[in-house]
Amino acid sequence: ENPERARLQAGYELADKLYQYILHNTEQGKVAKEYLKQRGIDDKLMEAFGIGYAPDRWDTLVKLLDKNQFPLTLMEQGGLISAKQDGSGYVDKFRDRVMFPIKDWKGQTIAFGGRIMGQGQPKYMNSPESMLFHKSRILYNLHAARPQIRKTQELVLFEGYMDVMRSWDAGVHNGVATMGTALTQEHAEAIRRLAERVIIAYDGDGAGQTAAYKSIPILENAGCQVRVAVLPGGLDPDEFIAKHGSERFVREVVEAAVPSIKYKLLYYRRNYRMQEDGERLRYIQQALRMIAGLVSPIEREHYVKDITSEFRYSFETAMQTVNEIRLQAEKSD
Ligand code: ATP
Ligand code: MN
Ligand code: MN
Ligand code: MN
Repeated sequence: ENPERARLQAGYELADKLYQYILHNTEQGKVAKEYLKQRGIDDKLMEAFGIGYAPDRWDTLVKLLDKNQFPLTLMEQGGLISAKQDGSGYVDKFRDRVMFPIKDWKGQTIAFGGRIMGQGQPKYMNSPESMLFHKSRILYNLHAARPQIRKTQELVLFEGYMDVMRSWDAGVHNGVATMGTALTQEHAEAIRRLAERVIIAYDGDGAGQTAAYKSIPILENAGCQVRVAVLPGGLDPDEFIAKHGSERFVREVVEAAVPSIKYKLLYYRRNYRMQEDGERLRYIQQALRMIAGLVSPIEREHYVKDITSEFRYSFETAMQTVNEIRLQAEKSD
């Protein structure tokens, strides 16, 4: 084990304890606690996720690290604190933010996400890449969710911290988050080592839907079976739970997730002006090409039935088209 790594990790661990202490035991922490409560996070949930608060001061963490003989240059290189512009010392990186510790697979704190409480930019600040924190590999909450993921062979993939926490409270104990970054092949491979199936539960807004669409092939190439949970009205999972409650979230969002092919067929419609005959025909041809790519004959039949009954085309003609597309593809292989 690299001694610098171990030292930096201990620094993150100390910061984690400090932020939690401040949230739960100080006057300054009260406003943050109120903010969390008002967002539906109770004390038990705060403790389970190690939520903390970084006070509105310049040097609370720097002083504590210094007092405990942590090398500040290393702490700065490791993204835990910031160097002053004039080079005269160090200041805390996170100030006046609610702190979400990000953990590695062993459950050790290796980074933070910090949320501003009011309006203001950036809404979230995450620790930079470091020798501990590789954004293309780490998934938020994977450590805590691992047992349930293994047991059920299923993982629920969210975008954000609050989505993971609120859904955990709703009984979804196999949820992790990409923390706003695009899902990578490394993420997908790590997921596949634990689970056969993935439910993508990204935000219901345009950005979330596009991110979900892009994540499907990455996960499928890694060998995962993928379903997509569709969030109505542009809500994200946290907002859905706040509005409609936990039970409806589990039943109408998580359990109602649709197979990736179905999601893609729906998603594709946005590219076509469906009220125009010609465009609709082009959509159906595109849809049949997608259906032709399905390995299972039963599934092909199922989706051809779906689409031909919706648009009132003949099932036989559409099925024949699908078979022709498959024959062509075989020839060109
Ligand atoms: P909240 O519910 O607290 O408003 P959110 O999770 O809904 O947060 P989104 O805007 O949907 O916020 O972003 C999803 C995730 O992306 C966040 O949880 C966070 O991990 C990450 N993220 C969002 N904004 C930023 C940012 N400005 N810098 C870095 N990461 C960000
Ligand atoms: Mn979003
Ligand atoms: Mn969101
Ligand atoms: Mn949200």
